[in-house]
Amino acid sequence: MSVRVRYAPSPTGNQHIGGVRTALINYLFAKSQGGSFILRLEDTDRTRYSEEYVQNLYDTFKWLGFYWDEGPDIGGPVGPYVQSERLDLYKKYAEDLVRMGKAYYCFCDSERLEKIRQEQIAAKKDEIGYDRHCRYLPKEELERNIAEGKPYVVRLKIPLEGVTVFHDRLLGTIEWKNEDISPDPVLLKSDGFPTYHLANVIDDHLMGITHVMRAQEWIPSAPLHKIMYDAFGWEMPELCHLPMVLGQDGHKLSKRHGATAVNEFRKAGYLPQALINYIALLGCSYEDGRDIYSLDELVSLFKIERLNKSPAVFDYQKLEWFNGQYIRQTSDSDLAALVRPYLVDAGLRKAQDPDMDRLELAAMPLVKERLKFLSDAPVIMSYLYKRLELPSVETFLPKKADAKETAGFLEESKKLLSEYGLDDIPAVEEKFRSRAAEIGRKLGDLLMPLRVAITYTRVSPPLFESMKILGLKECIERIDEAIRYLRGY
Ligand code: GLU
Ligand code: ZN
Repeated sequence: MSVRVRYAPSPTGNQHIGGVRTALINYLFAKSQGGSFILRLEDTDRTRYSEEYVQNLYDTFKWLGFYWDEGPDIGGPVGPYVQSERLDLYKKYAEDLVRMGKAYYCFCDSERLEKIRQEQIAAKKDEIGYDRHCRYLPKEELERNIAEGKPYVVRLKIPLEGVTVFHDRLLGTIEWKNEDISPDPVLLKSDGFPTYHLANVIDDHLMGITHVMRAQEWIPSAPLHKIMYDAFGWEMPELCHLPMVLGQDGHKLSKRHGATAVNEFRKAGYLPQALINYIALLGCSYEDGRDIYSLDELVSLFKIERLNKSPAVFDYQKLEWFNGQYIRQTSDSDLAALVRPYLVDAGLRKAQDPDMDRLELAAMPLVKERLKFLSDAPVIMSYLYKRLELPSVETFLPKKADAKETAGFLEESKKLLSEYGLDDIPAVEEKFRSRAAEIGRKLGDLLMPLRVAITYTRVSPPLFESMKILGLKECIERIDEAIRYLRGY
């Protein structure tokens, strides 16, 4: 039987790292087995639902570049893939369970439920929950309630004793005492909407899901689901609960640790490949001493056995390192296209500007090494677009030189550049070296003020290449401006 797995988010928030990791593991497993990866929207929590989160889901995965084979937006053979469009199904199956004696109608209103809750609290009961009143409702009362059209929910009969046993591919056999399962959870609400449990089990079954890979926080739902599969007489998919992702402090990864929403990473200038690569290695050992894997390689290497049982720790610095690696792997023209929106946003250029496109293509080899994030580009590259405010006089000064001498060094640089131009960079660099020696100075004494005059900082992308991009005329003007500044004009 071919593998079918699903990612089943509830659109009640933007996509975050934890969800993407669940989706990615499902994807890698499906593709490594020649199977299918399915998206199902679990949108039955109508109070927290927002269309915006659905859009965020699609945008996120389009950006990440791995996508489902079946889903609400692209269709497929077992749709609809949106739970709110499947209400009739859930109702039918809930009624089936009632008919089979595995579930029952509960007519208790919210006042009664609140009253028993208060009584349980007052009596300091360990178990706070439904008292199973309607499980034992006399037949006449049940029929009367229905005839009167009283609203009801459908509750699952949890066996009163014994244990429920299920197997987890990663965690092994798990036994759960039935008395520890919440007494008779609601499957179908009075407004006709299913709860998570009912919809999840029915859909996994009807959609032919073979493996359920989801976060470990769903383990407590598994015994309940097992009871439902047994009640329906269906085989339960193989379960595989994924270890948690923690922050460096050992707490569950959250906003306190840094960005967790994928669109924040995107805005901050991460490449999707870096994010995917890092997330795939999170709590997964490929053990060949390598870090960098393409999505295809990850697919071909994936095995459930490679997943660690212990929680994974999210390391933002490691992720930054991956991002730098991927930026350096990106071709100049691709990288120029990737940083363009950031440069446009910073007001350094217009969206359409072939001259700027050319400038940036030439600049990419100079800045690639320095970009940790795409969003660094405006700061690192701004001197290529416009003149900036001159930094403090001290910034220009080489060791043991005052402003007047430094202005003299700039005069030297100007002369050399005017004479030799920038066509042959190694040759003109050689001229700088020999000139420095002639005047009894280090090469750096000439180049430091020149660098500041041209790029406005002491640490910049390669100087001569930058000057070549700017053009000789612009460079001479910047040098003149710096000379005037140092001389206090
Ligand atoms: N809708 C659930 C969620 O938000 C799905 C859990 C599952 O995979 O069963 O994660
Ligand atoms: Zn009841």
